[in-house]
Amino acid sequence: MRSILLTGGAGFIGSNLVRHLVRGKGVSVVNYDKLTYAGNLESLRDLEGDPRHVFVHGDIVDREHLGAVLAKYSPDAVMHLAAESHVDRSIDGPGEFISTNVVGTFTLLEAVRGYWNSLDKGAAESFRFLHVSTDEVYGSLGSDGFFTETTPYAPNSPYSASKAASDHLVRAYRHTYGLPVLTTNCSNNYGPSQFPEKLIPLMILNALDGKPLPVYGTGKNVRDWLYVEDHCEALWTVLRNGRPGEVYNIGGNNERTNLQVVHTICDLLDALRPRPDSLSYREQIRFVQDRPGHDLRYAIDASKIQRELGWAPRETFETGMKKTVEWYLENLEWCRRVQDGRYQRERLGLSSVNGIPEREENIL
Ligand code: NAD
Repeated sequence: MRSILLTGGAGFIGSNLVRHLVRGKGVSVVNYDKLTYAGNLESLRDLEGDPRHVFVHGDIVDREHLGAVLAKYSPDAVMHLAAESHVDRSIDGPGEFISTNVVGTFTLLEAVRGYWNSLDKGAAESFRFLHVSTDEVYGSLGSDGFFTETTPYAPNSPYSASKAASDHLVRAYRHTYGLPVLTTNCSNNYGPSQFPEKLIPLMILNALDGKPLPVYGTGKNVRDWLYVEDHCEALWTVLRNGRPGEVYNIGGNNERTNLQVVHTICDLLDALRPRPDSLSYREQIRFVQDRPGHDLRYAIDASKIQRELGWAPRETFETGMKKTVEWYLENLEWCRRVQDGRYQRERLGLSSVNGIPEREENIL
C-alpha cells in the first residue's frame, strides 16, 4: 500500500488515521473532506508541508469530482470515514445523515467501481475499499452478551440507521460487482482532536469552564471505549490483511457507564488541574433528560480480528484517558479554534421530544 484515498480525514478519527498512515507507515494519503463543522485542518497542522499528505476539499455526494480525484491520484486503496457522526444531531436533523452517510457512500462506491474497473488485473486484485462503520448498527444490548459480526442489524437512531444502510450498500457492491470491500464496525472512540460535542471532550471543557457536566438519564448507559490510536492500527491491519468481503468488529474491551467515564475525567482533572476552590469537579455533575431512544449498552466481541489478524488494543481505559485529558489540557487553543461560533456546547438532540425546547443551555 503506497497511496490511499481517505475520506473524512479532517475529522476526529480521520485526522488521527492520516497521521498514523503518513508518519507511522510511510504511506501517501489524499485526504478528501468537505470540512463540515466537524472537519478541521487545524488537527493536521503538524503535517503542513509534508508531501505525503494532500488535502482535497470535496463532498462525497459529488460523483464527477470523486472520479476525477481517483483518476488523478490512482490510489491503491480507499478508506471511507466521511460521515455525519453525532447521534444527537441525527435526532435534530436526520436529512444530512441520509445525504452524506447513505447517498454519499453510494456515490463513492459508484466512483470507486468505475475506477476499479479501469485498473489492470494486478492493480484491481490488490485494490481495497475499507468502509469504517459503527457497532451502533447492531442496536442495543441488555446487561449481558456482546455484538459479533453475525449479530442481526437493529439500528435505533437516524445515525445508526444511516450507517447500517451504508454497510448494506458496501456489502451489495461486493456481492454484485465483486468490489474488494472490507467493513469494520467499531465501538466508541476517544482521544485527541475529538470535536467537543462528544461526551469526553465536552465534559473536559465544561469542567474547566465551571459549567455543568450534563449526564443523560441515570448515567447507566454502557459503551465500550477504544483509544483512537488503537482503532487506527486496527484499520491498517484490516486494510492490509483482512479478507475481502469480510466484516471485522473492533472494540476496546473497556465497558464503562457514562457516569464512570465522567467520574474518571473529574478525578484526572482533580489531580492535573485542581479547581481553584479545591472541590472536586464531580460537584459539577448534573443529571439531565435522557436522549430519546437512548441505547442501553454496546459491547463488542473483538475476537475475530484478534484471532485472524492478530490485532489487540494496546491502551487500557485508564492509560488512554490520562493521555486524552492531558492532550486537551495542552490543546485548549485547538478547542477554541474548532468551535467557530455555530456550536457552543449546548444540548443537542431533544427536538423530537414533546414540549422540550430545541436547545437546552448548560447553565450551572
Ligand atoms: P467526525 O464527525 O469527527 O468526522 C467526520 C469527517 O467527515 C469530518 O472531517 C467532515 O468534514 C467529513 N465529512 C462529513 N460529511 C462529508 C461529505 N459529505 N463529504 C466529505 N467529507 C465529509 O467523525 P469521526 O468520529 O471521526 O468518525 C469517522 C467515521 O468513523 C464515521 O464514519 C463514523 O461513523 C465512524 N465511527 C466513529 C466512531 C466514534 O466513536 N467516533 C465509532 C465507530 C465508527
